[in-house]
Amino acid sequence: MTIPAPSKLAFVPFVSVQNMMALVHCIGIDEMLRGIAAYIEADFRRWESFDKTPRVASHSAEGVIELMPTSDGEVYGFKYVNGHPKNMKEGLQTVTAFGLLADVSTGYPVMLSEMTVLTALRTAATSAVVARALAPEGARVMAMIGNGAQSEFQAMAMRAICGVDQLRLYDIDAAATQKMMRNLEGLGFEMTACDSPEEAIEGAQLITTCTADKQYATILTDNMVGAGVHINAIGGDCPGKTELHPDILKRSSVFVEYPPQTRVEGEIQQMPDNFAVTEIWQVLTGAAPGRTSPSQITLFDGVGFAIEDFSALRYVHDKLDETGLYDNLDMVADPDDPRDLFGMLQRAKGV
Ligand code: NAD
Repeated sequence: MTIPAPSKLAFVPFVSVQNMMALVHCIGIDEMLRGIAAYIEADFRRWESFDKTPRVASHSAEGVIELMPTSDGEVYGFKYVNGHPKNMKEGLQTVTAFGLLADVSTGYPVMLSEMTVLTALRTAATSAVVARALAPEGARVMAMIGNGAQSEFQAMAMRAICGVDQLRLYDIDAAATQKMMRNLEGLGFEMTACDSPEEAIEGAQLITTCTADKQYATILTDNMVGAGVHINAIGGDCPGKTELHPDILKRSSVFVEYPPQTRVEGEIQQMPDNFAVTEIWQVLTGAAPGRTSPSQITLFDGVGFAIEDFSALRYVHDKLDETGLYDNLDMVADPDDPRDLFGMLQRAKGV
């Protein structure tokens, strides 16, 4: 990523929702998912060069508001994101977000971006990077439990990156499943709407759970999960919010992003503190084994980590010059004499 010259830092490129959607269409969604996945994988491979901290969460009875910061020493990034399962019933998104990149050497922001669409893309790209490393070879059938805002993105990334082209869909609200089938029609998937999670996972080599509920829910019980599958459990991402019965965790090899965050927020919050997990970056660098046998159940306990947002923002930043899909925000005060901030304010009187 090339950081702009300091003289250009006063105006900050801003990627609006409109421009983010235009960017996806300009690049093509498959290409963009593959591109973001490549940035995530590259950043996971240099995991040790990042500042890492569990996200800073402010919980309320209705949801959570979080800040997710990280830095690689040259560039700093953060995302603001909420998670409010009850929003959907009020016609609002469960998850909305925006994020920023800044130049570490000056502290000046270099890009501000919407991240509601970008979070869906980066979450899907992360799921697919992990599934490519862990899912059984040749997996083409995915059960998708929870057919809300994230679901189509998950399906698209699993196809673009892992070759999944058969979907078995289940949601407690049949309207969500119908919406998903409508949206993916003509995009090359064979889709089956199912009446229960049991039916959805029949014959699936890959199971994605992406439901929203602010409680310990049991979307999958132990007897439902057969040998050899890969589970991509991404809906449980908050203290008190899980999707899997703990017995499934006991039978699985569990892979996580950043243990200090996942032990508080992920499926493994149900397990003792010393429950064994493998950090996914180590699988990607070859430092730790991934799937070692066809009968092994691999489980990605994905909660979403700051480096994934950093990678996605980095990808978008690298596309700015080529696409021009941004506005300039007058976001940083820039007096001619850096000590004369008050003078700048006075001169603006009546302008
Ligand atoms: P959404 O509200 O748009 O969709 C959730 C869907 O789950 C709804 O259609 C709902 O009917 C369904 N659902 C709820 N309980 C269910 C159950 N018991 N069985 C089957 N379906 C059920 O939410 P979304 O934006 O798609 O997000 C889903 C979840 O993923 C949220 O909890 C969100 O916080 C989480 N999330 C995680 C990451 C990550 O990085 N791990 C990123 C984004 C979102």
